[in-house]
Amino acid sequence: MNNGVSTAATLPVQFSGVGVASGRVVGPVRQMPKPVQEPAAPGHGVAPLPAGATAESEGLRIKDAAKSVKAELRARAETASGEGREVLEATALMAADPMLIKSAIKLLSAEADGGARTAERAVWEAGAAVAAKLTALGGYMAERATDVLDVRARIVCELRGLPAPGIPSADAPFILAAEDLAPADTATLDPAKVLALVTSSGGPQSHTAILARALGLPAVVAAPGVDEIADGTEIYVDGAAGTITVEPGDELRAAAEAWSVQASALAAFNGSNTLADGFVLPLLANVGTGADAVKAAAAGAEGVGLLRTEFCFLDRSEEPTVAEQIEAYGAVFAAFPGKKVVVRTLDAGADKPLPFLTNADEPNPALGVRGYRTDLTSPGVLARQLEAIAAAEAAHSAEVWVMAPMISTAEEAATFASMCTAAGLKTPGVMVEVPSAALTSAHILREASFASLGTNDLTQYAMAADRQLGPLATLNDPWQPAVLALVKLTADGASLASAATGLPKPVGVCGEAAADPALAVVLAGLGVASLSMSARALAAVAAVLATVTLAQAQELAAVALAAPSAAVARAAVRDGLPILAELGL
Ligand code: PEP
Ligand code: MG
Repeated sequence: MNNGVSTAATLPVQFSGVGVASGRVVGPVRQMPKPVQEPAAPGHGVAPLPAGATAESEGLRIKDAAKSVKAELRARAETASGEGREVLEATALMAADPMLIKSAIKLLSAEADGGARTAERAVWEAGAAVAAKLTALGGYMAERATDVLDVRARIVCELRGLPAPGIPSADAPFILAAEDLAPADTATLDPAKVLALVTSSGGPQSHTAILARALGLPAVVAAPGVDEIADGTEIYVDGAAGTITVEPGDELRAAAEAWSVQASALAAFNGSNTLADGFVLPLLANVGTGADAVKAAAAGAEGVGLLRTEFCFLDRSEEPTVAEQIEAYGAVFAAFPGKKVVVRTLDAGADKPLPFLTNADEPNPALGVRGYRTDLTSPGVLARQLEAIAAAEAAHSAEVWVMAPMISTAEEAATFASMCTAAGLKTPGVMVEVPSAALTSAHILREASFASLGTNDLTQYAMAADRQLGPLATLNDPWQPAVLALVKLTADGASLASAATGLPKPVGVCGEAAADPALAVVLAGLGVASLSMSARALAAVAAVLATVTLAQAQELAAVALAAPSAAVARAAVRDGLPILAELGL
C-alpha cells in the first residue's frame, strides 16, 4: 500500500505530494510510457551476440545509435527555447559522453567480466554503472543520474528500432503523470497540450518543478502512487495545496473553472509597484539570458533583480572570453534601457557546476568552493567577469548593480567591493544566502552598497536541508521561523549600516520566496526594499501587495515572526489576506 495515498471507503481518492507550481485544473491523465525493458543478460542460454554480429559491428551500432540520439536531441533543442533548449543541449552532450560509450564498448568484448554482451545489454550495464557512481555522490550529482538513465533508454530504443521514450502524444489536452520527468521530456512538453504535471518522485528543485514553474503549469511532485493512475482517468490537481483528487465532483470542477478565469486575469502584470498606501516596492525579474530579459521586459518588469550569469555559460567547459561575456550581459542590459539590472557574478558549484570553475570530486559541494569562493581556487575569472560587466555597462544605458553570491564575511564583502571599484563598477553588493551573512549584515553592509536575500540557499543553509531533496521539502520552506528571523536580522543590520554610513543600504529579495504573494507581504513588512522573481509571478504578487498598507504588512510580518512553525506562520498570514482566496492563490 502506498503511504502517500489516502483511500477512503468511497471515492474520491486523494494523493498528496509537494505542490511546486500553483494552479487548479481538471483533466484526463496520460501516463509517461513505462521505462524501457531491460535487455537480456548474457548466460542462461542467451546468445551473447546476434548471428553474424561481432564485437566490432556491435561497437559500431552503439556509436551510430548514440550519434542518432545526440542528433535527435540537438534537433529538438533547435526548436526549443530558453531553459528547455539548454537542458536538451546538455542531454545531447551526455548522449555522446565518451565515458558511457567507451565503457559500453568494453563490455562487448569476450574478455569482459561475465563474457561478451549484445550492444543493447552493454549500453544498459554501462549506463547503470555511470548512474550508480553519480547516485553514490549524492545531492545534485545524484540528480544527474536520471539524465544518464534517460540517455541510456534512448540509445537502447534506437538500437531496437523503437520510438524514443517521451511525452505521449494526444489530440486533446491532458495531465501528464510520471514517476519523474527527465530533463529532455520536461524541456519539450507542449504547454498547450499539457494541463499539469504530477509525479510520484522528484523534489521541489527537480527539473520537473523548475520547468513547471517556468511554463506556468500547475505541478505536484513526490506524490507516491500517481504513476499508477489509469490513462484517461479524470483528476483534479491543486498545485498550491499539493493534492490530486481522482474523479472530482462538481465542487472541484467549479474550483478549476474559477481558477482558469482568475489565472487569465492574473496573467497580465500592469506594472504597479505600490502598496495600498502608495509605499513604493519595485518588482523586478530574475533572468538567466538576454532572451529571458526580453520576455521579462515585455511582461512589465521594472528591471532585473537577479541576472544569474552562470546560466549563460552552463554548457561551457572553458571560461568564456571577455568579448563573449560582454555580448551576453549586453543582451540583458539592452532589454532594460535606463532601468536597474542587478548582475550576480558566477555562482558556480553545487547544483550549478561549471567545469572551468568547480571540482566535480568535492565531497560536499553545497558547502564547498561555490560562488564567490571560486576566486580562491581560480583567481582571475572574477576579475575578468567584472571587466566584462563594466564594458557591457559602458555600451548601454542600464543602471548596473553587481553582487557576489555566497558571501559569508565582511572581509569578503570588502574585497569584492574593491574589485568592483577597480573595474569601474559603482554599485557593489552581496547576496545574503549564508546565515553568517544575515547575522553580520551590519558589518557586511558597511562594505557593500546593497544586499539581496537569496532565500533558496538561505533556507537550505539555515535548515541544513538540501534544497533539491523531496523528503526534506517541509524543512526547506522559507516560512520557517528561523528563515524569517534571518530576513529580519538582515534588514535590521542594513538599517544600522545605513545609520552609521549615512548612505542607503537597500536589501532586496531574489529567492523564490519573493514569488509567493503571501510571503511577499511579510517580506515587505520585514523591511525589504524590492522583490525579484520569475516574470510569471509578477502579476499575482503585485495584485496582493496593492491591497495592503505598509503598516498592515508590518503587522502581518510580526504575526509570522511570532509563529512557532512554518505552517502556523503561513496559515496566520493567509487568514489576514482574504484577497488570496478571492484570487484563488
Ligand atoms: C537563492 O539562493 O535564493 C538564489 C536566488 O540563488 P540561486 O537559486 O541561483 O542559488
Ligand atoms: Mg543561491
